[in-house]
Amino acid sequence: MSSIRILSEHLANQIAAGEVVERPASIVKELLENSLDAHSTRISIKIKGNGTRFIQIIDNGDGMDSDDVMLSIERHATSKLKNTQQLEAIETLGFRGEALPSIGSVSNLTIISRPHNQSTGTKVEVRFGRLQGIHESGCSKGTVIEVHNLFGNVPARRKFLKSARTELFHIEEVVRDLALAHPEVQFTLQIENKVVLDFSVEDIEQRVRDVFQYKEPLLPLLSKVEEQLQISGFLLLPEKTSSTVKNRLRIIVNGRPVQNNMVRSAVKDGLHTLLMKGRQPAGTLYIELAADQIDVNVHPAKLQIRFRNIAKMQEAIFKATAMVVKNYHEQIRATLFTEKEASDKDKSGERPAGPVSFRNDNNTEFKGIFQSLSGKANRGIFSVEEEKPIPYKLRQTQKDLKSRVDVEKKSIKSDKGFTIIGQLFQLYLLCEKNDSFVVIDQHAAHERLLYQEFLTGYLRKKVPAQHLMFPAMVELKPDEVEIIERDNETISALGLELEHFGDTSWVVKSVPALISHVDPADILLDILVALKTPGQDKQVGVVPDRIDKLIASMACKAAVKAGNRLAPEEMIALLERMESSEFFSHCPHGRPVIAIFSKRDIEKWFLRQ
Ligand code: ADP
Ligand code: MG
Repeated sequence: MSSIRILSEHLANQIAAGEVVERPASIVKELLENSLDAHSTRISIKIKGNGTRFIQIIDNGDGMDSDDVMLSIERHATSKLKNTQQLEAIETLGFRGEALPSIGSVSNLTIISRPHNQSTGTKVEVRFGRLQGIHESGCSKGTVIEVHNLFGNVPARRKFLKSARTELFHIEEVVRDLALAHPEVQFTLQIENKVVLDFSVEDIEQRVRDVFQYKEPLLPLLSKVEEQLQISGFLLLPEKTSSTVKNRLRIIVNGRPVQNNMVRSAVKDGLHTLLMKGRQPAGTLYIELAADQIDVNVHPAKLQIRFRNIAKMQEAIFKATAMVVKNYHEQIRATLFTEKEASDKDKSGERPAGPVSFRNDNNTEFKGIFQSLSGKANRGIFSVEEEKPIPYKLRQTQKDLKSRVDVEKKSIKSDKGFTIIGQLFQLYLLCEKNDSFVVIDQHAAHERLLYQEFLTGYLRKKVPAQHLMFPAMVELKPDEVEIIERDNETISALGLELEHFGDTSWVVKSVPALISHVDPADILLDILVALKTPGQDKQVGVVPDRIDKLIASMACKAAVKAGNRLAPEEMIALLERMESSEFFSHCPHGRPVIAIFSKRDIEKWFLRQ
């Protein structure tokens, strides 16, 4: 007798359940997908215990008649797939016809369903793979699915489950993911009768905000690459990202939440020099494309997909993200460097604090420092209302101050209407601009400017070089000489001129002008180390990553540091160079250069609202 046997239906279902039903969250995912495929607009989820005790999903979707209810618990029974062609272009979330029988094989499963066109519904019960009964049942249109005692017949499975907290977290994640994918559907999740998630029908941005509880501004992304390919979504500002799981980038492809490293890294590349080391992009990315351009039949739980044209997708996503970065940057530029128009009064009717020079003002006793709030805008350190008599005590203090503060020197104005209030901790420039308080990290700002200049110079193959009056002699090892010979062009494009002196000795004759104060031998060794870093000719920005890193590190060395006291002219020069630079908002390592506080923000600090 043959020893090979065909598995019984029951056993086959249990095996399938091993793949499809890994934990309570997988059941919630499968059932929600079914509800969404059935065109539901309202879905409620109830959970008890860690999910193994009780899961209930109620939807208001298409429902099933009694025949379909019976078929739905058969293995490989689906209403969503009819032929092989359809498998090539799947438009529903489900298609394998495995979920319900699998769930039924490892739990007590009850399905109650009524289609729109019938007055009564059907109730069927399956207990660990055995049909318990089927009968008519009164119910509202749509479907109710209840799962009790999950894994009651496979105790080993239960042992693999994590703490209730973890299992419930996974369930919440499933709901969050599908809620992001379907903002047109209302979702509520109750755990032990307590509502933990509640998403009403919203526009996409509001759904993204609700799901992540974002309060900060989001960067909108929209790129219609071609008729049948659109990339859209909302990203969290790169400096607001963290490394927490909840905040990770969600990827939705044709309404299906998926995990995909290519997409993630293309977004990351698009945010090049804006994301701090170790940070991940966050937000939600929607990709809509023709169904036949992806293969969804590559993972039993359908968590992954395969793009037919990976390179094209990668480029499209990178470009879409890079465009967002550009828009974001231009927005910062506009806020910083556009003069507010005189007619642009704020709601309170207060006059915007336009730039006013102290020098012409000889009106008040406290010339310069104390300007009228309602009048000619305030500049400098304090301001009091002109008309109101100044209380005696305050006046004393002010007199005191007047003797100590040289106003003319403390308030520096740029052509663009910036008033520089001063330098804080010898690192931050404090400025006033229109109705905003602007803080600039002088090191990060300068670092970015130098990085941009270096990059441009490198791309034009002429980083400005400084000839050394006293050329520096360096001894090089054979492998270093090899690099010099091989990467000769790159090295000279970086502004370094080298000459062989004899034996192992080389002479550095010129260095990049921007870092001419750094030891020439150090510069050369840094360059050699960067060029030595093996292979990896990955390129995200405009130059290969190795060169990019090298330029960033040179810029960092050359930039003004914390502790450098800047002269007023230097502060103005920094601002002006920022304005004319192509990119200035983040240092090359992703740290923000500028913090802007609106007048309103500051009023909030003092509960003036
Ligand atoms: P699949 O989703 O892959 O088709 P399932 O086992 O999840 O397989 O479901 C089997 C069938 O049962 C579905 O094709 C669908 O016709 C029906 N069904 C399941 N859940 C629902 C629901 N909530 N509303 C309406 N029909 C449903
Ligand atoms: Mg399904």
